[in-house]
Amino acid sequence: MSRRIPKSREPDTDTPSVEKTVVIGDVSLDQALRPSKWADYIGQEHIKNNLHVLLTAAKERGHLPEHILFYGPPGLGKTTLSYLIAKETGAQIKVTSGPAIEKVGDLASVLTNLSPGDILFIDEIHRLNKTVEEVLYPAMEAGSIDIIIGKGPSARTVQLELPPFTLIAATTRIALLSAPLRSRFSGGVYRLEFYTNEEISRIIKRSAKILGIDIDTEASGEIARRSRFTPRTANYLLKRCRDYAQINKKEISLAMVLEALKLLNIDSMGLTITDRQILETIIHKFSGGPVGLSTIAAATSEEEATLEEVNEPYLMQMGLLERTARGRAVTRLAYEHLSLQVPEGLQEKLL
Ligand code: ADP
Repeated sequence: MSRRIPKSREPDTDTPSVEKTVVIGDVSLDQALRPSKWADYIGQEHIKNNLHVLLTAAKERGHLPEHILFYGPPGLGKTTLSYLIAKETGAQIKVTSGPAIEKVGDLASVLTNLSPGDILFIDEIHRLNKTVEEVLYPAMEAGSIDIIIGKGPSARTVQLELPPFTLIAATTRIALLSAPLRSRFSGGVYRLEFYTNEEISRIIKRSAKILGIDIDTEASGEIARRSRFTPRTANYLLKRCRDYAQINKKEISLAMVLEALKLLNIDSMGLTITDRQILETIIHKFSGGPVGLSTIAAATSEEEATLEEVNEPYLMQMGLLERTARGRAVTRLAYEHLSLQVPEGLQEKLL
């Protein structure tokens, strides 16, 4: 397959230039907060530097960028990066997700409806089923797919040539991706890291400006410290503090932020009720662990996937939970944070 940039994407051609991005639904508040320029995309310097090299080199050679995979916990900016890449390359982005592509026919229809040079963004790619995944391999590698038409003895395989495209995929659970799929992301597999408090503070300041909120450094710093090192959470907490300030007819100050966060049950370490419930369950029901994830899920009535994607990475990052070969165990800090006494027998063993 030629992966050269299609004529329609080159400037000064007669054909009209391809739309920049597909806007789905109304331009909501969240979309207004999503950075639309690299300069506004704070942090993840390592990824931005690598993407700069990848995109510039591809552009200079007149080729499309190779397929890219982003992974990491939700809300860290995977989708935003994909939109920025589309903008940078002047490509149209088509957005879908693993669970939306149920059958091979769904994938065939998505792929054959691409225009040359498009970016296809597949969110939650770990939720693609195996049969669909296997059809994606030749699409990524050779730019074609094999479709079986008909049934029984009259069935025949037809090879469909696809327009050249770049696949950008995102996942919160890289471990669920098969090795053959992972290896086909020849443009790179990038892990998004949690943000620093300083980076989150900058994101909050930028969002506050867009939302027209006057917020001082103390108040934004407090929101940042409780944002789970995650931009989406930071924006969410900022919006809730704004609501609280509005209905109480107050200015956004540190005192007001503390009140609003208390009402939301977000504690001083940024833990939610569910995070605390997980720690308390391990401590009270399983003597501090180790205990398997499925057992914790059953005991807390939470989805195993949510625990693994959302709660566990943050609790581990904060040093409250550790993952051992035999399951999950709380640390000494977890007892301290919950103001619980470490039992005698555990004094020596705890990290
Ligand atoms: P993911 O796809 O990883 O779940 P998103 O790309 O949807 O995360 O990001 C969630 C929101 O967080 C975005 O809408 C954006 O407002 C904000 N955001 C994410 N990353 C950044 C960043 N690096 N700088 C500024 N805002 C960001």
